[in-house]
Amino acid sequence: MPIKVPNNLPAVEILTKENVFVMTDTRAMTQDIRPLQILILNLMPTKVETETQLTRLLGNSPLQVELELLQTSTHKAKNVSEEHMIAFYKTFDQVRNKYYDGMIITGAPVELMEFEEVEYWDELCEIMEWSKTHVHSTFHICWGAQAGLYYHYGIKKKRLPEKACGVFLHTLEYKTGMLFRGFDDEFYVPHSRYTGLDDEAVFSHPDLRVISISPEVGIFALKSIDDKQIFITGHSEYDADTLRNEYLRDLAIDPNTKIPYNYFPDDNPEAEPQVSWRSCANLLYSNWLNYFVYQSTPFDLNDIKTGATPKHELVTDNFDLITVKFGGSSLADANQFKKVSGIVKSDPRRRFVVASAPGKRNSDDIKITDLLLKSMNAGDDADKYLDLIEERYSGIAEELGVSFDAKAEVNLIRDRIKKESKESLLDYVPSRGEYIGSKLLAKYIGFDFIDAGEFIKFDAEGNYDKDVTERLLGDELHKHDYAVIPGFYGSLPDGRIKTFSRGGSDITGAIVAASTGSDLYENWTDVSGLLMADPRIVEKPVSVPLITYRELRELSYLGAEVLHADTVFQVASKGIPINIKNTNAPGDAGTLIVNNARYYSNAQDISGLSGARGYMNVTVQLAHLNEKSELREHVLDIFESKGIKIETMMTGVDSMSFLVKESFKADVEDALSEIKEKMPGASEETLSDLAMIGVVGRDMGTSPNIAIKILSALAALKINIKFLDHGAGNLHMILAVDDKDYENAVRAIYQQFA
Ligand code: ASP
Repeated sequence: MPIKVPNNLPAVEILTKENVFVMTDTRAMTQDIRPLQILILNLMPTKVETETQLTRLLGNSPLQVELELLQTSTHKAKNVSEEHMIAFYKTFDQVRNKYYDGMIITGAPVELMEFEEVEYWDELCEIMEWSKTHVHSTFHICWGAQAGLYYHYGIKKKRLPEKACGVFLHTLEYKTGMLFRGFDDEFYVPHSRYTGLDDEAVFSHPDLRVISISPEVGIFALKSIDDKQIFITGHSEYDADTLRNEYLRDLAIDPNTKIPYNYFPDDNPEAEPQVSWRSCANLLYSNWLNYFVYQSTPFDLNDIKTGATPKHELVTDNFDLITVKFGGSSLADANQFKKVSGIVKSDPRRRFVVASAPGKRNSDDIKITDLLLKSMNAGDDADKYLDLIEERYSGIAEELGVSFDAKAEVNLIRDRIKKESKESLLDYVPSRGEYIGSKLLAKYIGFDFIDAGEFIKFDAEGNYDKDVTERLLGDELHKHDYAVIPGFYGSLPDGRIKTFSRGGSDITGAIVAASTGSDLYENWTDVSGLLMADPRIVEKPVSVPLITYRELRELSYLGAEVLHADTVFQVASKGIPINIKNTNAPGDAGTLIVNNARYYSNAQDISGLSGARGYMNVTVQLAHLNEKSELREHVLDIFESKGIKIETMMTGVDSMSFLVKESFKADVEDALSEIKEKMPGASEETLSDLAMIGVVGRDMGTSPNIAIKILSALAALKINIKFLDHGAGNLHMILAVDDKDYENAVRAIYQQFA
């Protein structure tokens, strides 16, 4: 289906005859979906032929593709008319302010020159630099790939003993990747080049992943770890006779030119070449378009510049790498370990497992982390708690039939507690719950154990160091097929252990997902996702199927607890969805937390309802209060000076109204007396015993029905609304009701939406 190209491009006529559906500008305008914007920097001398070959491959897709052609302005095309170039090709100046979903940089017959000697090298460098911030995924072909690898990664090309020319066999190095999804174990691709890559430098580069090689002509396909750049050294796009034409061209210059390898039947240049690479070429380009462009490009192309590009945002089973994190309750005893093992083993994409320390087995139990904290603070009684910890781990190991020396592990802590000061052990001791538990889990499920202390880094001030960690951990984990990583801690530059705040294993899970470029982060806990309302008030509330990162932030701020608050930040810039799942009910869908909900179809009106008791509403009245900013600021300054946290506020012509926690009551009284003293004419009104209810929903601003439902639910019960704020950012509505009405109000609102 539709590939949209400029009207009258020669490719249209050729491909229409071949039955490849090409759509011209005029027809595409009637289609109401956003086409993918693809730019081709065509450096090949045979411009029309290359345009046609690439258009054919990009057209073999159900996606609508809008093609633009780019030429370098520092080099004039010699083999094609100037009219053609003027009619169809843009220069960099014409596109530099635009954004593209994808870009192809073709090969060029300049490979025997040094890169810097090429006439348009400086311009190409500028374009490649620009592509990092203006193109979602760039596909480099042959010399284009060599140039890209040299410019972006410093990889040099090297002269081959003789020209690699012909059709060669290829195999896959990285079988689970999406670029070669659906490929056979062996396949053919034409190559036509005098130079190759420094294979060793490529294989050892931490930011590159080799996907396919040819035993005869070396690396064929590789990509950057972040999926944004693809490098292909061969010419999948070639027509049946392209190699023959090149051969005849070379033969005219050098009578010793060798016949292309494995190309003509019986190596007879008079015979018609047989095509053995076409199906692979089609699959390669449609995989690139589908998985590396369409499914991960932002809907709004301008988002490319912010780097906030969502990754594989469609809910399909097309993920190829999943990071899973199990919370303390999921690892509380041997039986839970068995469930965890079952979940991990049931899907080979679950390759990286982050584990919390064993949590409570029942409500009277104590979490291992708390036992560790007690042991650190217990002085001479430390052994009492350490013994309990040892018993817990050895009990689990025994029941699982794993030989595991829990005693030796716990003795290491014992020794350090005896010998070292409490200050030096502050974060070390509580981190050991995750450390020992993860070692045991790794042994049980047969995964490698990776110590978070070596790869998760904090700076000297104790702030998490994202850049260093993502590089170190990403490099390490790419060496492992399957691994368990303890949650909750990392290390400072001097090697001392440092933990995140409590519940921090959620953050570790997100860090592992981000560092490995996971397609999904599954956070396994003991509830089937985020509940739509508080289960203490609403009987068996449903769980929210889908929520955006921003909505989750609002809900957490309003009191709903599901993930450690810093978790989302780690995955947000990469757009990795988080799925909250229940270890005890693994079949439940749970809650999917995503960057952009518009890629998903769902019928929910709201994403959650949270609330809390113990609020008061304070209103200050004074003529012109809202008009005169100095008056408004004065009031706010006085509140601020008393340390009062304002939950939300509203302003009227002559008044300002605040919702604050009742725990600030005394400070509020102080503030009000100061206001009355310093601002003559000011009066106040205070309403106490209020409960605050927050309703969060991304469609709040566009769907009036939501507000109507909320308000009519309360009106039907004659519940008086004491404060109403329709929320900045169109994401939430906050209202306050009398404390006595709180639970009824929550239930009534819930019933409108569940
Ligand atoms: N074990 C740590 C805690 O209890 C971290 C975690 O479980 O996420 O806070």
